[in-house]
This record gives sequence, C-alpha cells and structure tokens, in this order.
Amino acid sequence: TPAPVTLLGLGAMGRALAAAFVAGGHPTTVWNRTPGRADDLVASGAVEAPELSAAIEASPLVVVCLFDKDSVREALAPAVSSLAGRTVAMLTTFTPTDAREISTWLAEHDADYLGGAVMAVPTMIGKPESQLFYSGPQHLFDTHRATLERLGTSKHVGADVGTSALYETALLSGMYAMFAGYYHGAALIGTGGVSAREFAAYFVPFVQAMASAADGAAEFIDKGDYTAESQSLEFNRSALHHIVHVSEDQGISPEVPVLLREMMDRQIRAGHGADSATRMYESIARPQG
Ligand code: NDP
Repeated sequence: TPAPVTLLGLGAMGRALAAAFVAGGHPTTVWNRTPGRADDLVASGAVEAPELSAAIEASPLVVVCLFDKDSVREALAPAVSSLAGRTVAMLTTFTPTDAREISTWLAEHDADYLGGAVMAVPTMIGKPESQLFYSGPQHLFDTHRATLERLGTSKHVGADVGTSALYETALLSGMYAMFAGYYHGAALIGTGGVSAREFAAYFVPFVQAMASAADGAAEFIDKGDYTAESQSLEFNRSALHHIVHVSEDQGISPEVPVLLREMMDRQIRAGHGADSATRMYESIARPQG
C-alpha cells in the first residue's frame, strides 16, 4: 500500500507534487504558511494540517517545496524537533552549500536529509518526462523510492547532499546558453526579414543533431587530452570571428559569439591553438590556467 507522505509548501510546484501523491493513492498531508491554498487537494483526498508540527508528525517522509533556503529555515524552525526520526526530501531549489547547511542543521535535530532537484514545470509533475535528482544516503532514497517515483523519473546521483543541486544547475546552465544561441541566431536572421518561428524550424533539428557531439567532447574532457584529429581551436576561432563580424555588419549585438571567441582566445594565447576546440572547456573549468 502507498506510504504516507507530507508536503510542506503549496506554491505552484508544491501543489503539483501533492496532487501527484494523492493521485498515486498515498495518504497525503499538506501544510502551507498561508492557509486556503489546499482546497482542491483536500477535495481530492489530501489532509490539510492546521499546524506545521501535526503535518510533520503525520508521515515518515516530509517533502519540502518552499521558496529558498531562508524560507525553509524560517518555516521549519518552530517545529524542527518534530522532524526527529523522519526523512526530509528537499525539493526547494538550493545551492550545494545550502543543502549541506540545512542537512547539518536537521541532523542536529535527528532528522535525515535527502537533497533533491526538480527538472520540470508543475504541469509535467507525475509524468515520465519530469526528471528528479536526489542525493544523500542511498538507503534513504531506496526506502522512499516508491513514493518519490510518483513525481516523475527519479534518480539517485550521489552520496553528497549537494550533488542533486549541481545536476540541476549544470543542466539549467546548458539550457540558458542554448537559448542565448537561439536568440542570437534569431536576431541575426531577423535582419533578413526571417521570423523567429521560421528560424526555430531550422534551429531545433540542427541543434538536436549537433547536441550529440557532446559525447565526443566528453571524451576529450574526461581524458584531459585535447590533441585534435580534426577541427582545431584555430579553425573554430575563425568561425567565431566570422559570426562576430557578420553580427556587427548586420547591426546586432555580437556579445554572445564575442564571449565564445574570448574563451577560445585564452587557450590560443596559452599556446593550444592546434588542440581540439573542446579545449575552451578549460577556460571555464580552470580560469587561472
Ligand atoms: P511559489 O512562489 O509558487 O511558492 C512558494 C512557496 O514558498 C509558497 O508555498 C510560500 O508560502 C512558501 N514560502 C515562501 N516563503 C516562506 C516562508 N518564509 N515561510 C513559509 N513558507 C514560505 O514557488 P514554486 O512553488 O514555483 O517553487 C517552489 C520551489 O520549487 C522553488 O525553490 C523553485 O525554485 C522550485 N521549482 C519550481 C519550478 C516551477 O516551475 N515552478 C520548477 C523547478 C523547481 P505562502 O503561500 O504562504 O506564500
């Protein structure tokens, strides 16, 4: 039978998480600082606890989805002793440092801690395309796995409570850089009167095809060996220079390709121009060289 679970925080994400637990048949207890946000959930079978301590005591697993680290500290402080013997699964967006700080604080109150990260928007929760990362003691993940899997595809990624936050941040960073590339390309092609929609029709399949090249780059990075067999940094530097040049000619901001060209230039100045273009990774990972 589905295990009981408590959900603290009924914002946009918290409500979606709670609804997935209810849909999965888990006895679900919810709490929110501001009352009145649980009506739909209660109508579908959740129990709204008026007091935080009562909410915590209702379940061995307490999922926390508040705004940030400060709101977690502020919200939990008055009832932290009731967390003793329970597991907190933290689905509030944290830095790795936040995760270590809060897990240490909760350990002082005999509560176990599982760091978590949600790679989904609320409408995706409960579907397989919703990805969640957890980190911390493996046995905690194993114990609560069946409950946590109600929220989406769930993966334990390491023993350090901060690791799940690193996965989240790394994926989001890649996403934002990819969108910066799309915006730059759309602005550039827009100078020729082509719509962003039309550009997207070409951009999406092109980037999907190119993204698989990350596997090849990973080999260089993981080995720390950038000896190029094909396209060198010098070659790619001239491609970036060309993009900067065309951007300026067309009257748009060249800042996106300028940034990439600068990261290549740092490696070329250090004498690595004949290496693979993947060496620009080193400009980010080891900025001091
Ligand atoms: P909302 O702004 O919708 O909700 C914030 C929640 O935090 C509310 O329940 C609010 O309570 C509560 N809260 C804020 N401050 C305090 C406090 N001091 N004490 C007690 N409760 C407090 O945010 P979301 O639900 O969208 O996001 C929640 C977390 O999920 C965030 O960390 C976010 O980064 C993460 N997330 C969200 C995604 C999304 O698409 N929405 C995607 C991935 C992660 P009250 O109602 O009383 O104000």
